[in-house]
Amino acid sequence: MELDSLYQQVILDHYKRPLHKGLSKNSGVQVHHINPSCGDEVTVKVSVNDGVVAEVTWDGVGCSISQASVSMMSDLVTGLGIKEANVILDEFTALMQSKGTSAGDPEILDDAVAFAGVSKYPARIKCALLGWMAFKDASVQAQAQ
Ligand code: ZN
Repeated sequence: MELDSLYQQVILDHYKRPLHKGLSKNSGVQVHHINPSCGDEVTVKVSVNDGVVAEVTWDGVGCSISQASVSMMSDLVTGLGIKEANVILDEFTALMQSKGTSAGDPEILDDAVAFAGVSKYPARIKCALLGWMAFKDASVQAQAQ
């Protein structure tokens, strides 16, 4: 395992000091996703107002990759239009499916390019995607309301 590339400092920072952690008391759609292969769990709560991601909060337990990834995701998509948020989501999903061949586009992914090395480790890809898939699920439901 190339620990340097897998656990970059930015990932550890989000794990130690997660952003938007703690579920909001505001109204929103809340979903719970688990990654049984690693034991990761996240609950993501999303509110969408007029096509804009108004608030994303979450809670969870699990490995540093899963928890850092949901922290970074919540910070990246908050305040964006749903379409812009989905562009980031699609880019991150493509990065995770790249099997280590892509470095990711920092113009789109910002700090989330730190997860590029994870795509070389099939067992960890679900960890990195967990929070993003939960956001996708919750945001689709939030728009339908
Ligand atoms: Zn994990």
